[in-house]
Amino acid sequence: MEATLIDTHAHLDFPELARDLDSVLDRASRAGVREIVTIGIDLESSRKAVNLAGRHERIYATVGIHPHGARRIDHATLESLRRLAGGDKVVAIGEIGLDYYRDRQPRPVQQECFRQQVELACELGLTAVFHVRDAHEDFLRLVEPYADKLRRGVLHCFSGDWAVAEAALALGFHLSIPGTVTYPRAEAQHEVVRRCPVERLLIETDAPFLAPVPFRGKDNEPAYVLYTAQKIAQLRGCALDEVARHTTRNARDAFGIPH
Ligand SMILES: [Zn+2]
Ligand SMILES: [Zn+2]
Repeated sequence: MEATLIDTHAHLDFPELARDLDSVLDRASRAGVREIVTIGIDLESSRKAVNLAGRHERIYATVGIHPHGARRIDHATLESLRRLAGGDKVVAIGEIGLDYYRDRQPRPVQQECFRQQVELACELGLTAVFHVRDAHEDFLRLVEPYADKLRRGVLHCFSGDWAVAEAALALGFHLSIPGTVTYPRAEAQHEVVRRCPVERLLIETDAPFLAPVPFRGKDNEPAYVLYTAQKIAQLRGCALDEVARHTTRNARDAFGIPH
């Protein structure tokens, strides 16, 4: 039986993918990728994500403001997000979070923007998709009071070590593993993949970024989530089919994607 997969994080509105989306979706389907969650990073891309989800049966959307574009969210922006989030194929608020690696916006601004959107996710009963880079300590501290009220929480492109993973798992969150797991020096990520309870694992591409081996350095696309699933199967010493079955079920649960 062919493995059925869900790419839980892709940016289908980015030009690398959008310019020939039909071929991208066709290759995804041939690789067994049934559904794709396309992710908003600002109001414009959130609108595009919602439109894509409206046009394609197997695409779902998230809406949110990425930490790179963080700013104090005024009433009008919040209302726009709220309206977009009301679309029937919007499955999460995201990607939201803290990025102290690039530090493109002042940290207090990132924190406030993050907090406002976590509150929105809680209020709307939606899952939140978190982008966290070199900021896990502040992330855990800020999100902890909301963990019970969120529908689900997903740490996308999980880059923390096992100690961070344990703390995130204790809050009930899912860990989403990207193509970087295929890179030879990703030892901390390998440990997380081996030890994470199978019901909390998700897979993603973060396309068009972070293509897995053997496409490293090229544009990534949802079809390549298969290579990530294969690597996870190898690391966990189980069959690809088992990884596919679990991560697909987990994605349906984390995002409320129907069967
Ligand atoms: Zn991200
Ligand atoms: Zn992303």
